[in-house]
Amino acid sequence: MTTPDAKAPEPRRNQDILEFYRERIMLLLAVAILIFISPFAVLNIIQGRIFLGIAVSGVIATFAIDGLAIYFKRRPPIPFEFLLVPTVAAIGISLKTDAIYGALWCYPGVLMCYFVLPRRWAIAGSLGLLAVAAPLVLMSLGQDIALRFVVSLALTIVVIYIITDVIRELQDELLSQAITDPLTGAYNRRQMEFTLDEALERHKRTSAPASVLLIDIDHFKKINDDLGHDAGDRVLKALVLLIKNRSRKLDRLFRMGGEEFLLLLPDTPAAAAMVQAENLRGRIAEGNLLKNRRVTVSIGVADIQRDLTHESWVKMADTALYQAKETGRNRVIRADAAALVADPAEADGRRARQRQK
Ligand code: GH3
Ligand code: MG
Ligand code: MG
Repeated sequence: MTTPDAKAPEPRRNQDILEFYRERIMLLLAVAILIFISPFAVLNIIQGRIFLGIAVSGVIATFAIDGLAIYFKRRPPIPFEFLLVPTVAAIGISLKTDAIYGALWCYPGVLMCYFVLPRRWAIAGSLGLLAVAAPLVLMSLGQDIALRFVVSLALTIVVIYIITDVIRELQDELLSQAITDPLTGAYNRRQMEFTLDEALERHKRTSAPASVLLIDIDHFKKINDDLGHDAGDRVLKALVLLIKNRSRKLDRLFRMGGEEFLLLLPDTPAAAAMVQAENLRGRIAEGNLLKNRRVTVSIGVADIQRDLTHESWVKMADTALYQAKETGRNRVIRADAAALVADPAEADGRRARQRQK
């Protein structure tokens, strides 16, 4: 089955929970309809119920057209919501001509709404079907059957609603796990690349400013060595909490790996980012992240520029971070774009050497 895009955007309550799987579902549905419904189309025509036969053939034909397109990896020519038109017509004619038989088709009809339409429309569509079918059943089959028909169809709608709600919860949960770091809850590196690419695209279109702060805990290894890995983990969590509490709604914090974080500040030019970085650095230094021991960070700041990639943008901030480390730590340095472009390979080497320390 097709999986959701690995570089999925921010988690959101998705109204269209089957979005990523719809084509696969539609293909299976088309095959099922072809196998199970074709005999009824033939039977109706043989028995002289021409309108019903034509409507059922319409259902089969429209599903088959889209199903074939999906099978051959083409774009389905009929929008999925239009597939419901012949389906509803066939159910309507069947309700008029065959009464009880027509009522039976309302059940798969309701389920199909949830497969074919985004959730909100599926709810409206299935309730609409119930509202149209109920009086027709009442008129042709009487009160007793109509009452049972309405209750059982309503129950079917409630059950499919519950099932899709659970799927949505699970989907939200999975999406959030796929893009966040389990220890700290900051977004992960993969999500960072995606988000920086988005910011760069936006910058190309609108020239909107943006800056990144590359934040690295000073002498973190020593914290681990002196106080244990668990204390180190607690520092990481406390740091993330502190940064998140001091960030704006649209700022995004990513864990690059180890004790290194990247904070993306959209719509923030470098000068404002420097103020924010200095503020953060100060707060962290005073922040009692550990009892009886001061925890500090060094920060490299780099603002967005045309022609950057997410790699070169991060590298700019990394070069500045390296300078902050070299010049004594617990400080903020702004990237000099020219220095990076001069020799990125050297910056890589420096970084590797620093990591080995
Ligand atoms: P510098 O000031 O130059 O940044 O020195 P540093 O000690 O902070 O940097 P270094 O890269 O030498 O050490 C990083 C340490 O972070 C080494 C590694 O064991 C530790 N670390 C990486 N991931 C985790 C984690 O998830 N939890 C804990 N507790 N430690 C981690
Ligand atoms: Mg460090
Ligand atoms: Mg580091």
